Amino acid sequence: MEKVLIVKYGEIALKGMNKPYFERVLMERIRSCIKDYEEAQVWRYEGVVFVRANEPERMEEMAAEVARVFGVSTVSIAAEVESDMEVISQAAAEYMRQLRKERVIRTFKVETKRSNKQFPVTSPEISRRVGARILKTQNDDPAYPLTVDVHEPDCLLFIDVRRDKSYIYHDKHTGFGGLPLGTNGKGLVLLSGGIDSPVAAWMMAKRGMLIEAIHFHSYPYTSDRAKEKVVELTRILGGYCGRIKLHCVNLLEIQMAINEACPQEQMTILSRRFMMKIAQRLSQRIKADVLITGENMGQVASQTVQGLVVTDQSVQMPVMRPLIGMDKVDIMELAQKIGTFETSIQPFEDCCTVFLPKHPSTKPRLEKILDSEKALDQEGLIQRALEEMETITVQPGK
Ligand code: ATP
Ligand code: MG
Repeated sequence: MEKVLIVKYGEIALKGMNKPYFERVLMERIRSCIKDYEEAQVWRYEGVVFVRANEPERMEEMAAEVARVFGVSTVSIAAEVESDMEVISQAAAEYMRQLRKERVIRTFKVETKRSNKQFPVTSPEISRRVGARILKTQNDDPAYPLTVDVHEPDCLLFIDVRRDKSYIYHDKHTGFGGLPLGTNGKGLVLLSGGIDSPVAAWMMAKRGMLIEAIHFHSYPYTSDRAKEKVVELTRILGGYCGRIKLHCVNLLEIQMAINEACPQEQMTILSRRFMMKIAQRLSQRIKADVLITGENMGQVASQTVQGLVVTDQSVQMPVMRPLIGMDKVDIMELAQKIGTFETSIQPFEDCCTVFLPKHPSTKPRLEKILDSEKALDQEGLIQRALEEMETITVQPGK
């Protein structure tokens, strides 16, 4: 039996006039995701995307990869057969027999969609006939009986009858939904080695935003291993976004200057403001529309509302904080789901810990912070940091 992937998309289906545009970008994304498969083909027909490749052994793998494309809600591996009642019934019985070898199925239900209205049998009748055929052919082992359950079946078998071909499928790989990458501008994420910022980047990418990343380190106070960890996080994000540019900036001179000239409790907030300003400067160069951070309301000392307000005030461009209202446990769960968690919790030093104040200010006052900054050669510091910046193009991981 020939197998194809049936890809359904959630939110894009609700788009009005712009729907063709979103569909086109989605198909491009799917195409680039499976370009290494032999004779890969992607086409759209009546609101569903089909994927075919000459790689029968790698269907599961391909389905899992396509399910990671943003915009995709489900992916199913379907048997493609002639649109003929006898052929469909026979193929469905064979499909179910295979499936019952792979996993335990004691109850099932058939659901039919008939987009080809010329087909001589109605949808409920197709379901009934296919169901009957399956029952008749699969009940040879009394120890492993099969019955119909229309309420809570172990397996829901779909029959989609189209003009030339019909499709038999079940069990979907669930995608992440969202919108195809590239339909919503570009964001520059401030990527630490922590749990939060990779999740923040992923959430914005899921809404269609192209991502570049900027990371601050304090080499040689922070190690190469710490930087490797951030490269690895970027690589994992690349599994969803394709290759990502990672800009690495040494913050050490800035941190030393702050340490020298400013009150110790302002260290964190002042370095955070420098990070934001440098990121804004880079955004102009790379044409990023917004900055993205993993900040969250109240999670740590620097993320009080006052801290966030004073951080926000350091730049004149929008800062997206998609995690702002989430609880830490939920962020951790999402980090696990997208695959960044294990890397994020590796214990390497972060540039913020190098000069960590004993008592960071939890209620920084903007006037005081601005006063402290006056004591620094901000422009010189920012320019030198950017001149020394190193940019790595990180290839995606799988
Ligand atoms: P994360 O888990 O993302 O590190 P966090 O809970 O440790 O977040 P903070 O250390 O206050 O929180 O950092 C808040 C945000 O500032 C981070 O989510 C990230 O966007 C940015 N940030 C912090 N440190 C760095 C860094 N070294 N390089 C780039 N961005 C950073
Ligand atoms: Mg951190």
